[in-house]
This record gives sequence, C-alpha cells and structure tokens, in this order.
Amino acid sequence: MAQSEPPPPAGKCPICGRPTEHAYRPFCSRRCADVDLSRWLRGAYAIPDEAEDEDGEQRPEPPAGTDEPGPSRH
Ligand SMILES: [Zn+2]
Repeated sequence: MAQSEPPPPAGKCPICGRPTEHAYRPFCSRRCADVDLSRWLRGAYAIPDEAEDEDGEQRPEPPAGTDEPGPSRH
C-alpha cells in the first residue's frame, strides 16, 4: 500500500519556530509543549496582587483613663 505522506505542518512551533509536528501540534516536540505549558502555568499563577490588604496589624488600643493605680506600692 502506498501510504501518502502526511500533510505539511500548518504552522511553526511557537517556542522554537521549527515546523510543527503533528503529534505535538502546535509544537514541534513534547519538549516545546512542556515549555509552553510551564509558561502558561506561570502566567496563570502570576496573579497581580491587587487585594493585598493583610498588612494592617490590629493594635488593640488600651483603655485609657480607667482605674489607675493611685499610690505606687512598693
Ligand atoms: Zn519547538
């Protein structure tokens, strides 16, 4: 049987620019796919810290003007 050659890659690997491999499209190899995946994950994790509001330490104000100890005990 004459097996026809696979169609030419429709694009290039976005990572290294090599012809896209059918098995790993749109990348040229699994390595590049992993690279892209890791990049994607990093981007997903890189969330801008807009809601960073945990800096205010709560300082309980001591009640001033209560019963102060009059004569200092020795
Ligand atoms: Zn590649």
